[in-house]
Amino acid sequence: MSEDVLLYINGEWKAGGAGKLPIINPATEEQIGTVAHASHADLDIALEAADRAFRQWRDVSALDRSKVLRQAAKLMRERQEDIARIMTIEQGKPLAESRIECAASADLFDWFAEEARRTYGRVIPARAVGVSQTMTKEPVGPVAAFTPWNFPLSQTARKIGAALAAGCSIIVKGPEETPASVAELVRSFADAELPAGVLNLVFGVPADISSYLIPHPIIRKISFTGSTAIGKELASLAGRHMKRSTMELGGHAPAIVFADADINVAANLLCGAKYRNAGQVCVSPTRMMVQESVYEQFIDLFVEGAKKVKVGNGLDADTAMGPLAHGRRVEAMESFVADAVAKGANLRTGGSRAANKGYFFQPTVVTDLSGDARLMNEEPFGPIALISSFRTFDDAIAEANRLPYGLSAYAYTKSAETAARVSSSIESGMISINHHGLGLAETPFGGVKDSGYGSEGGVEAIEAYLVTKFVSHRYA
Ligand code: NAD
Repeated sequence: MSEDVLLYINGEWKAGGAGKLPIINPATEEQIGTVAHASHADLDIALEAADRAFRQWRDVSALDRSKVLRQAAKLMRERQEDIARIMTIEQGKPLAESRIECAASADLFDWFAEEARRTYGRVIPARAVGVSQTMTKEPVGPVAAFTPWNFPLSQTARKIGAALAAGCSIIVKGPEETPASVAELVRSFADAELPAGVLNLVFGVPADISSYLIPHPIIRKISFTGSTAIGKELASLAGRHMKRSTMELGGHAPAIVFADADINVAANLLCGAKYRNAGQVCVSPTRMMVQESVYEQFIDLFVEGAKKVKVGNGLDADTAMGPLAHGRRVEAMESFVADAVAKGANLRTGGSRAANKGYFFQPTVVTDLSGDARLMNEEPFGPIALISSFRTFDDAIAEANRLPYGLSAYAYTKSAETAARVSSSIESGMISINHHGLGLAETPFGGVKDSGYGSEGGVEAIEAYLVTKFVSHRYA
């Protein structure tokens, strides 16, 4: 991987005015490179570039914008092996997951390339002869996007794809923990001959950059993926400056397993989904809620599955779960487990660091949690599964909806009636029943309640980057 990750501003790779910080391989805790940090002077250059480039890019035809997106997607596919390796080294996830994410990001660019050509307006029948009434969609303007370290490529691809397709320019503040893979994504656009200034990439102190960019008059739209606490701060800053925003925040997804479900399938799929990316997934199924009569059977199957998850360096072919992305997550996991056990929880497997070196944590299963355990109320964002039992449908729904989160939910049942009732009763932006089917380019992706607002997938995604203009024209 490239040793020094630079900023990309106005079509040039450059060192940052605020120095650089180390990038750490989470599997070995060794320094693997550095990432440039932007100063306010760098941000000013990026802002000016984004402003100038926006005026050009919005006038490039939708067809030509879509060609650039398609070319970047093609380059991402050609470079998949190299990019996946870079991501695994800096983020920790197994190579197979990195490859899938790289392919999914290319898929997102193709989707947005298609959407670019469908930003339709409409003609509204007028009340008088000689008047035409039309509505058109225009790009909102330069965007400031803040992207996370758990899916460095795909979460950045969602924002860049929608912005560029709509005709916006964008400044991305990438994740400082995993900057090199994001830089490779940006390089695909540079090599696809995206005009200078349309896409800019910066890194630095997150709060410093967001507090500078969000209020800036050049920036017209904010998009953030990260924790609910930070999302609320950024959304209120955006609100104070009347900036549109999309907030893709935390979740604590309920997974409801009814007694009539195929319990083997449910345990197998939920276990696989839970430990994907070491549980650092906003839509990770986290609160397994299992109907009483199949509770013990489910626990046995799930624990057996968790024990089989091979933990190791993501570069090793047989690794199913890599390290956590940084040391703060390991400390967070230890504190969650200690709190749960102190409050009477039953630790069925895991619960500790998995190695002396590297940010490894064991796949963990906890049952019999008390209602005031932090795990029952806060998003673990790591490899900890909670399993509890419920008696009736209403009990399950009440527990699922108890928390302020509402990003994703899962249910397992063979009854079409139960499936229909659960999908209409759950307060979440997405629900997947009898399989794990979230996150495709063409399907909506976003939450409700404290999980944020706006959608970063499907036909809804590009809307957030467009404004509506109504024209009433008397021509006769
Ligand atoms: P954190 O809250 O310090 O950072 C989370 C993300 O937000 C990072 O990418 C960080 O760079 C960014 N960030 C933090 N403060 C910011 C600010 N003032 N302005 C702009 N960006 C800012 O926590 P962490 O330990 O790095 O991650 C753990 C938490 O983050 C988890 O609890 C999880 O909820 C959340 N998270 C969520 C997602 C997601 O996909 N929704 C992704 C990554 C992290």
